[in-house]
Amino acid sequence: MDTIWVLAEQRGGVPAGIVLELLTAARGFGGVVEVVTWGPSSESTATVLGRYGAAKVYDVGDIGEALPGPKVAAAIASQVSGGNRPDAVLIGATHDGRDIAARLSVRLDLPVLTNVVGITASGGRLTSDHSIFGGSTLLRAEFTDAIPGLFVVQPKSFVAEPAEPAGQRSVEIVAIEVPETGATDAARIVARHEEERSGPELDEAAVVVAGGRGLGSPGNFALITELAQLLKGAPGASRAIVDAGWVPYALQIGQTGKTVKPMVYIACGISGATQHMVGMKAAQKIIAINKDREAPIFTIADLGVVGDATKVVPKLIEAIKARR
Ligand SMILES: Cc1cc2nc3c(=O)[nH]c(=O)nc-3n(C[C@H](O)[C@H](O)[C@H](O)COP(=O)(O)OP(=O)(O)OC[C@H]3O[C@@H](n4cnc5c(N)ncnc54)[C@H](O)[C@@H]3O)c2cc1C
Repeated sequence: MDTIWVLAEQRGGVPAGIVLELLTAARGFGGVVEVVTWGPSSESTATVLGRYGAAKVYDVGDIGEALPGPKVAAAIASQVSGGNRPDAVLIGATHDGRDIAARLSVRLDLPVLTNVVGITASGGRLTSDHSIFGGSTLLRAEFTDAIPGLFVVQPKSFVAEPAEPAGQRSVEIVAIEVPETGATDAARIVARHEEERSGPELDEAAVVVAGGRGLGSPGNFALITELAQLLKGAPGASRAIVDAGWVPYALQIGQTGKTVKPMVYIACGISGATQHMVGMKAAQKIIAINKDREAPIFTIADLGVVGDATKVVPKLIEAIKARR
């Protein structure tokens, strides 16, 4: 394994959490780790990326209000076609990451491995693990002759850790050209909407308190928000209540929502469908509150409370407040 590229999404100079996870993993594969990034603050991003093991940053530059997909995929494909060919490209399974991977696959006429939840290196090859059938089965895959191997990796598959010794690496920044992209690059971002939140990001929080249909009504979600705030955590939700319009999609946890890996996950009125559990079962401790003692969520819970969440959660809130 000579060279591995990591796709580095960033905002305001801060790389996405998944990027630091991928860099940490890539460092262990025995090759040189390089990244491809874009945006107006590549220099400040490069410092952080270097701390996590990047030796070189390929900078696509400021793409303004264009969608990253067409430009970034074209820039990477042009490097690869020109002979600057890494052994693998690791891409986070984000909206832009998936878009870039698909376009790259088409441009390079290469296959792509998606839904990766683990990668190991051995004998100069990378083997990837894939969670399938709602997380009930782990499948192992390897590219036979695709170079670079394109891997789309789920967030929280690796734990991000800075390289040692920290802060002593110099990072080379190399500007790379975006070739003509034609009509594929016509879309422009005309507005951005930031979801309001007062605590940590859902996928970064150490504590997640999640609510489901068992809460009974949209108004009861305020209990989830209050408990999350008291525990300095983030509120989350099952798809059932997102689909019902109780809470925004940004709060959805599971197969078609976010993957979380907090220290503590508190599931309130959530049955534990496989599509939900695949997004939270890696939490260190799982506490479930459900009035049905047969609910599947109890099969993975470290602590199960059989009871009415709309009564148990207020008691919990009361007890926490009384302690302070
Ligand atoms: C392709 C696909 C993708 C999907 N992706 C996702 C996903 O990303 N995330 C996700 O969450 N789901 C996803 N789903 C939906 C999933 O299958 C379930 O339908 C959903 O997770 C159920 O949500 P829930 O547990 O809130 O509701 P329910 O399954 O209706 O469960 C409600 C639970 O609350 C309990 N309860 C009722 N009243 C109370 C009370 N007063 N106190 C305590 N407990 C109570 C009940 O016993 C029950 O266990 C997906 C489904 C498909 C087909």
